[in-house]
This record gives sequence, structure tokens and C-alpha cells, in this order.
Amino acid sequence: MKFVDLDAQFALIGEDIRYAIDRVLAHKQFILGPEVATLEEQLQDYCGVRHVISAASGTDALLMALMAYEVGPGDAVIAPSFTFVATAEVIQLLGATPVFVDVDATTFNIDPEALAATIDRVHARNDVQLRGIIPVDLFGTPANHARIRELADHHDLFIIADAGQSFGATYREQRVGNFGDMTATSFFPAKPLGCYGDGGAVFTDDPALAEIIESIRFHGKGTSQYDNVRIGVTGRLDTLQAAILSCKMKIFDQELARRQEIADYYTDALQAVVQPPAPPSDCRSSWSVYTIRSPQRDAIRASLQQHKLPSAIYYASPLHRQPAFNHAIGGGCAMAVTDLLATEVLSLPIHPYLTNAELDQIIAVIVKACKRA
Ligand SMILES: *Cc1c(COP(=O)(O)O)cnc(C)c1O
Repeated sequence: MKFVDLDAQFALIGEDIRYAIDRVLAHKQFILGPEVATLEEQLQDYCGVRHVISAASGTDALLMALMAYEVGPGDAVIAPSFTFVATAEVIQLLGATPVFVDVDATTFNIDPEALAATIDRVHARNDVQLRGIIPVDLFGTPANHARIRELADHHDLFIIADAGQSFGATYREQRVGNFGDMTATSFFPAKPLGCYGDGGAVFTDDPALAEIIESIRFHGKGTSQYDNVRIGVTGRLDTLQAAILSCKMKIFDQELARRQEIADYYTDALQAVVQPPAPPSDCRSSWSVYTIRSPQRDAIRASLQQHKLPSAIYYASPLHRQPAFNHAIGGGCAMAVTDLLATEVLSLPIHPYLTNAELDQIIAVIVKACKRA
């Protein structure tokens, strides 16, 4: 059993993907070929967002969004302490200061009360100017976007939603992609919608921001790439990856539904022995990973390993504890919930091609490990 199994999906749509790749090999427009525009339209329709700009990776999508706001030295941007490194990395890469905020113990997403308090604390400093917030929909479950929006509007901050794990999720009946001034997602192979390499996208309803992102994505181009109106990057999604993603979009809803089924199956079987994930009732998670909490985490993981069953720890060493973020605001400080989660979380396989028999195997080992502990 694998944590993420891409073989089963390939067996289902491999022929379609080979055909799509062959078409790109025939026309050879490897950079911004027609498949890129097709995918962007597909994503716009799927999410109900006006502009989608595909990107070379989820990290580039975040980076370009920050660049569009001209974030730089002297600026501070808020991120949760419990997330993948990319969320805060891009802030510091641009010379700005990440500000870490602790997360909620149930959703694992940025805690709105801690966020409000941190905004006030950073506003009181005169060494940095607070510019924006990067909330993360961790493990596929949307953050409390309504409350984050209120706080951002009240304090005149931008929101760049990090949907690196939550493409396909919904919040109050709307798809992720609609909740920040911009949203960045990732198509890394292990994400809910993954390509065969690196990929990502920026979503926005704002035509002015969309135009700036398109320019940044191609060396800050104006009317052409030889007319450089700003500093940009090589941030484009390959045509081949776009072609592959378009094939995968056809089965994506079906895959999301199976992920939901698996999550329900796990929760039903495990809730008596561990704390299962519990997305708020106004959210539908994309179930990028299924993450339980238990004080016996290490014993459970050891048992799974003994039975050669896959599991993963996201994240054993949270960002505010990483040496790279020593100079961030909140770096090296206690973050009570994040610090506890780091010792208690365990992610179980949830790719859509797991069988119920495989789930039963995992569940049996966990139940037994908990009873023993
Ligand atoms: C995966 C991920 C990213 C970055 O995506 P890449 O495509 O790997 O660059 C950003 N944020 C979060 C929360 C992620 O999980």
C-alpha cells in the first residue's frame, strides 16, 4: 500500500493522458500552448472565479501574488505557524518579515482570535508595516474565511489564500478560489489535483491583479517579453502539465467524492480511539490528507510501520521552530496549539483508489495499538 497511489489513477485515464501528451508533442508549443488557456478556462468555470493564471508551482503562485502587492523589506505578512514551508518562505524570500499566528485545535487552521490579537500587536510596532494575511486551508479544510475577511477589511490588509491543499473544497457552498483577494493553489503530484511535475495557479476576480500576475509570470512583460515593465519570474505552467491536468479534471469530482467516503469511513471506525478530523459544518474538505490526533501518535505510527502500512507526520517541526525563520515575528516563541499538534498528529492514506479492505487493515492496526497503549 502506498500513501499516495498514482498507478490506479493512471490505469483509469492513462490512455487519455498519453493521447493528450501526443497532441502537445505534435504541435510543440511547449510554453503557453493552447492547452494552458483551455485549462485556465476549465478552472475558472469549475471555481466560478473570473481569472485563473496557471503557474509553475504552488510556491510560485504564492510568490507572484505577493509580488503583485509589491511586498518587500519593511513589510510584514501573517501566516499560520502550522503549515508547509512555502506559505512563509515566499514572504521572507521577498525580504519581508513573516508573522506567525497559532492555529485552532480542531480545524488546524489559523485561529481568528489569535489573529486579531497578533494584528494589534504588529500594528503597535514601528519597525514593520503589516500588509496582509496568508491563511491556509490545511489538509484541505477551508479556514474561517468570513472572520478573516472581516479582520482584513477592518485593518486594510490583503488576503492571499493559500489553497495549496484545498483545491476542490467548498466553504459556504462556494469553491475555494473565491475567498482571498487572490488564491494560490498547487498541482504538485500528491495534491488532490496533481500533475506529472510541478504546477500551480492563481485565482482572482480582480482584472487588474490578474493582468499584473500574467506580467510577473513572464519576466514582467508589458506588450511583449522584450518590453519589461516590472521585475518578474519564469512562473509559467508547462503546456504538457496543462494537458495532463485537463484530463484529470474529468474525473476530479468523482475522486473528491471517494475521498469524502473514505474520510467518513475512517471517522466512523476511529472516533472511539483517536480524535478524527472534524471540518466545520459550513465546509467540505478536499481531504488532501486525513489527519488524526492522539497522545499515542508515536505508538500508532510504529504499529503501522510494523505492518508495512503507510502514514505521515505533517508537520513534526512547525515553521516557528525552524532555524530559517529565527527572525520571523513569533519565530522561536511558544505556540501552544501548534506545539502540541506537532506531537499528536498523524496523517493516514486517503487517495481515492484505496479499497475498503485496505482501510479495514489500517483501522484494525490503529484500534489495536490504541487499546494496547
Ligand atoms: C504544497 C503546498 C504549497 C506549495 O506548492 P508547490 O506546488 O509544491 O510549490 C504551498 N502551500 C501549501 C499549504 C502546500 O501544501
